[in-house]
Amino acid sequence: MTVRELNENVDKILQDIPDRDFDKTCILEDFGNITREALALHPEEEISPDRCQKVLGAANTRALGYPLQYILGEWEFYGLKFRVGEGVLIPRADTEALVDVSLVQLRKMHKKLDRKVHVIDLCSGSGCVAISIAKKMEEAAQLYAVELSGEAFPYLSENVRNNNVNVRLFRGDVMDGRMLDNFRDPIDDERFIPIDCIVANPPYLTDDEMSNLQREVTFEPETALYGGSDGLKFYRVIACMWNYLLTPGGLMIFEVGDNESAIVSRILEENGFGDIFTEKDGAGIIRVVGGHKM
Ligand code: GLN
Repeated sequence: MTVRELNENVDKILQDIPDRDFDKTCILEDFGNITREALALHPEEEISPDRCQKVLGAANTRALGYPLQYILGEWEFYGLKFRVGEGVLIPRADTEALVDVSLVQLRKMHKKLDRKVHVIDLCSGSGCVAISIAKKMEEAAQLYAVELSGEAFPYLSENVRNNNVNVRLFRGDVMDGRMLDNFRDPIDDERFIPIDCIVANPPYLTDDEMSNLQREVTFEPETALYGGSDGLKFYRVIACMWNYLLTPGGLMIFEVGDNESAIVSRILEENGFGDIFTEKDGAGIIRVVGGHKM
């Protein structure tokens, strides 16, 4: 099969996928080693049956609605590369707003305190939030990441290693108070390490949203998506329980679902946070809510 024929075949296989040009380009490059330039410059070049089969296999999988990110096994977030696959939530561009706001706040905090700031990322998943913050803050922050899922955890450790950052990892349930014990002061066991910031992109979809998922999202882990019937259970527990580790003035900052910003602001206020702030994502939807411990 020639490059041109293979391209036409993939195009036909992906005909029902919206914006299929992007998916097609990624699949041809990744599985066929065929760049856009090669397609334009050498359309009649023969491709080995083995390579054709790999490309067509990937295209057929994509045509079933399987996420492109899982097919490629890698995805970019905040200019960094993350390994992804079944069992771990795919990093979303929307979540870059959470990293942006956290970095602004953490830099301010670091300047004011004049020491390393300690940051915990809860429900870390692929680690995209913790790793991006660690990369940008460099020596100015110590990151910790907590993840429950045994399927997601290997991706988290691999992504920390591949991005060459210092993030300390803990496997466990953020809803379980015993997880706080991981943050006891190693010298004085009665005390906890003072934490300056807790950041989280927890599961936040509601019952309604779970029953109307886009086809691609149905292949992602439910545990990373579902936030209880009203979508808010993680915010309630994190704001009430993890609050305990924060220093006075410490920051709690969340990614929130569509239409959840007002109620999450209220949850923060009810748990002793003030100076509440919000930020929109690239689509103009309020995606980030944060506050300081009073
Ligand atoms: N933003 C994701 C989605 O709607 C949900 C991620 C999450 O629950 N934190 O697909």
